[in-house]
Amino acid sequence: MADKLHKPVFTFPTIASNCAPTSAVCILYYDNHESAGSYRIDAPAVHAFADTTIIAEAPEQYIWAGIGDALSKEVEASFSAQGRDLAYKNTMGVHIVQGTNERIMANGIEALAAAKKQELSPAIDNIILEILGTTSYTSVLVDHAYNGHFAHSFYYGVTVLPQGEKHLHGEIVSYGVLVVLQLAGETERLNRLRKFMIEVGLPTSLKDLDITSEADLALVLDKAMTTDHVDVSPFPIDRAMIEEAIQAVEALND
Ligand SMILES: [Zn+2]
Repeated sequence: MADKLHKPVFTFPTIASNCAPTSAVCILYYDNHESAGSYRIDAPAVHAFADTTIIAEAPEQYIWAGIGDALSKEVEASFSAQGRDLAYKNTMGVHIVQGTNERIMANGIEALAAAKKQELSPAIDNIILEILGTTSYTSVLVDHAYNGHFAHSFYYGVTVLPQGEKHLHGEIVSYGVLVVLQLAGETERLNRLRKFMIEVGLPTSLKDLDITSEADLALVLDKAMTTDHVDVSPFPIDRAMIEEAIQAVEALND
């Protein structure tokens, strides 16, 4: 509303479940919770008043989901930009997020333990900086083309299912990160990340997200393929390749 009225935007995040308070992208939904696209404000918030005490005291599933969302940016931005001759701003955006997933894996378990006790800890501070800080710097710096890939397309796809509402944004996105790493052929990174996700209870199977039938997966992919994120990839990616990558990620659970 402030953007439409040409007023400065301030945000007051009381949870750190994604980078919405610090990025310039607003995600829109229909009344039934299906994704309705995005709206980009001219600039991110002038200031985000993030009180880490309030965030640490919030229900722990939000920072848990925030970890899932933050895991996506390094993977999606790097993969989208791979092999491209980038403008300065895009180069900065892609570089700034490098190392985020290592830092999340180093701090995540301790941060979640602190969040469970609703206590502040250096690990929570570090994790909040990754969720609300690093990923947003990338989001603000890069063109839309490099700001997401299939992890976010997958999320938009899941919003068409009634059971999608039971799962938080970052929770769903984190499963999609595994699919992107599979598409990228980054087996070692996939296995390490997957191990961490199992440790913190993020989803590593479609079943974890209550997607249990071929028909539901087809609906998810119908919607996911309408987003333009996978169009910017190091090689052309079609639906069959995505289905194959999902099958490969699922097979890791056997
Ligand atoms: Zn996200």
